[in-house]
Amino acid sequence: MKYLRDKLSVMGESLAGLFFPRLCPACSGVLYGNESILCLKCNCEFPRTGFHLDPANDTARLFWGRVMIKNAASFFFYQKGSRFQNIIHKVKYHNCRHLGMEMGRWYGHELVNTPFCHADLIHPVPLHVRKQRKRGYNQSELIAKGLSESLSLPMETGLVERVMYTDTQTRKSKYERWSNVEGIFRVIHPEKLKNKHVLLVDDVVTTGSTLEACAAPILSVEGTQVSILTLAYAKLW
Ligand SMILES: [Zn+2]
Repeated sequence: MKYLRDKLSVMGESLAGLFFPRLCPACSGVLYGNESILCLKCNCEFPRTGFHLDPANDTARLFWGRVMIKNAASFFFYQKGSRFQNIIHKVKYHNCRHLGMEMGRWYGHELVNTPFCHADLIHPVPLHVRKQRKRGYNQSELIAKGLSESLSLPMETGLVERVMYTDTQTRKSKYERWSNVEGIFRVIHPEKLKNKHVLLVDDVVTTGSTLEACAAPILSVEGTQVSILTLAYAKLW
């Protein structure tokens, strides 16, 4: 009986795959049975940064002299025109919520036994309430949820909020991006952050200004430490 049930379930999956094939989010090729998130080729060519193995990595350096961050790392390099850019676009703009969580879970597995496991809680960089309502979800929260599962760390949301609504920053110059982020976040539950090591999570880091703006009010709470993880690291030039 069990054999029959297993057989039927495999057949069901294959049938579903025939009509609704799972696609690789990077190259859009069809995924085969043993390929979970990315296809084999994209998995092999996935532009990992390896930043978590180097405390003086490029993500960490972004914050030097600006805000005291304990550890920082990013999973992969984000390059314009690269097919891996599609992963971020799908998570951020195309409602691929499951992909956000899967990527977070995958990254978390690679971070086991690194200093990132020693945080007390994971908190996503919040969106402004108006933006979140418009999008329907916070992409960083999905990534944080995946990370929290594989790192076995609790995820909290709503301890920090975004008080200023900023327009999309994609077309702004580096100077403008740096200058318009001060005071855009506010801690609303300092008692839950006191003496905690917070792992802040965002989708992409470019100048680090948003993360800096979010980390600063957390660090103003007594006894806190902040580490940072992002899915992607984008070079501005
Ligand atoms: Zn692929």
